Formats: sequence, C-alpha cells, structure tokens
Amino acid sequence: MNDEQKIKYKRTNTRPVKVGDVIIGGDSPITVQSMAKVPTTDVSAVLDQCERVFRAGGDIFRVSIPDSDSADALKEIVKHSPIPIVADIHFDYRLALESLKSGAHKLRINPGNIGFSERVKIIAKEAKSRNVPIRIGVNSGSIPKDILEKYGKPDARALLESAEREIIILQEIGFEDIIVSLKSTVPQITRAANVMFAQKYDYPLHLGITESGFGYQGIVSSSTGLAIILDSGIGNTIRVSLTESPETEIRIGREILRSMGLRRYGIRLISCPICARCKVQLKYIAERIWNNIKDMDEDITVAVMGCEVNGPGEARFADIGVACGDKVGLIFKNGEPIKKVKDSEIIAALLDEINELIDTPR
Ligand code: SF4
Repeated sequence: MNDEQKIKYKRTNTRPVKVGDVIIGGDSPITVQSMAKVPTTDVSAVLDQCERVFRAGGDIFRVSIPDSDSADALKEIVKHSPIPIVADIHFDYRLALESLKSGAHKLRINPGNIGFSERVKIIAKEAKSRNVPIRIGVNSGSIPKDILEKYGKPDARALLESAEREIIILQEIGFEDIIVSLKSTVPQITRAANVMFAQKYDYPLHLGITESGFGYQGIVSSSTGLAIILDSGIGNTIRVSLTESPETEIRIGREILRSMGLRRYGIRLISCPICARCKVQLKYIAERIWNNIKDMDEDITVAVMGCEVNGPGEARFADIGVACGDKVGLIFKNGEPIKKVKDSEIIAALLDEINELIDTPR
C-alpha cells in the first residue's frame, strides 16, 4: 500500500466492534456484506447464497427473521456458515431474543418499528450477556412517526435523531457494542447524516444507499453514494443494496473499495480506454491478461496501456506494466522498463513477468 492509499485508508476514529470473528471499526479494514434473498426457512438455499458470498470475498452475511420459524432455522445457518451471520429484526422484539438463542453473531434492529424502549432494553440485555453487537439500522422509509412529523421529511436530521433515540436506550443499560447505519435513497442525505453522526459518536458506521435498484442505475447510484462518504474517511462496513444476487453485491462492494484504494483484493488491472493513438489490439491483450490473472490472490497491480501518452507513467507506477507503441510493447517491472517486445509477444511477456514476480519472495 503506497502513502496515498494509506491516507485514504485512514478512517475517522471509531471503537472496534466484534461480529463473530470479524472486527468492524477500529483499525480494521472496511468489510463488505450482503444479505440472503431467499426465505430464511429454506436453509440449504440460504447456505448456498452464503457460500457464494463467502467465495466472492464477502465478510458478513445477513438474513431476515420475519417469523419464529426463521429464527429457528438460524441455528443450522449459523452452524454451517463460513462467515458471521446477522439476524435482521423488524416489529417483534421476541424474534430478536429467539435469534440470539439460535446463535446470531449480530442483530440488526430498526428503531422505527421495534416499539417501546423496554423491549429494546430486553433485547440489549440478552445480546450483552452473549457478547453480540447490535446494529441500529435507520432507513428513510421507516423513520419513527413523531420524528418524521417534527422534520416534515426523512432528512439527515431525522435519520440522526432516530439513531440517537435508540443509542440512548442502549447506553442506559451500558450497552456499547453498537454499529449504526443511516440510509436514505438520496445519496446527499445519506452523506449528511453520516457526517453529522461521525462528528458526534465513535460507533462504527455501516454504509449503504438503500434500495438502489438494479443494473447500471443501481451500480452507479451505490458507487457514487458510497464513494462520497467513504472519501470523507467515514464508514467501516458497506453493503451495496441491489436487486441482484448477493455475490454481485459483494463483487461491486469490493470493486468500490478497491477502486478507492481502501482495500486491496487480489491482482488489480489498470487498462486504458483506447483511442486513435493506440496501434495494438489493446482490448484483446487486456482481456487475455485479465482472464489469466483475475483469480490470482496476489497483491500486485498490472497496467496495460495503449500508447506513450499515459502508458509509461501508469506502467511505471504498476508492479508490472506495458506501454504500447507502433506494434510494439515496452514492458515495465517494478517501475523500470526491462524490454521491448513485438505486439504479438506482449501477452506472453507480461504473463511471464507476472508469474516470476509472484514466485519471487518479497
Ligand atoms: S493511453 Fe494512449 S491509447 Fe490509451 S487512451 Fe490514453 S492516449 Fe489513448
């Protein structure tokens, strides 16, 4: 990780909160999570999605607990899951208690619909006795009625006050393993609420742009919304909410963190968008390289660049790179040009150098 990335990586100070064997907040890397999209009672389907999330690099998996049968099914899910499981609770505090008994590693409760503070305290006391943290998950669509009336709309102040009300209840019984999320469908409102929260509290923040939709619109909305918050040094765990598969959410979440230099995941490929200056089959070369390296777990950057304008600069910055010219490619390794090859030899030359770098102890 270079100096610039270290600066970006730095988060506002938050306390660490343990979720199973994963830490959210403190000095820990930002985690990526997703959620089951099948009935929780269909244990094998949930575990199949959970396994796919794990294989895609997800850190935490959440399941909805709409009824007692789901809370019961949680036992088997927790038992076989490779990553910590979060129980998502709405409306009925008893489902939170049942989920804790089933071994949930974390609870998510919604301040807008759990009801009396005494019920929240009952949940928190049980969670505390089991060292299970609670996420106070505030959504713009479920702000408590009186707070909504006070502000007239689900703005940042309404989101913040909803979370604060719940924090006070938990603090009254000495419960501090708190994670908070403040989500709106409007990225600017989400950002404002999270900034206001981070200025006041040191509880870790779970970020997300709620109900982002699907396809390009959802990806862009989530990416831009999360980026403007993450870039402020705020956010300790993220969930990209899309009408897509859980593993797609994880892949996009990881790409957001990777593109911002906030987490390194395997090999990173930089390739130029191609323009009239390019005199080689750059898309073909980049695709072939990517297909060969995309599953490698090494922490290196590879650059495939089309010409002398930005090519040498990017190739020099990468661990391995090529700056192409007129039917040739200048190969770079560790910031230095090492050889010039014909365009037909670029792919093999790059792969040789990548493999050699990986095999060299560093
Ligand atoms: S690196 Fe060269 S070929 Fe690639 S987009 Fe930039 S100017 Fe065009």
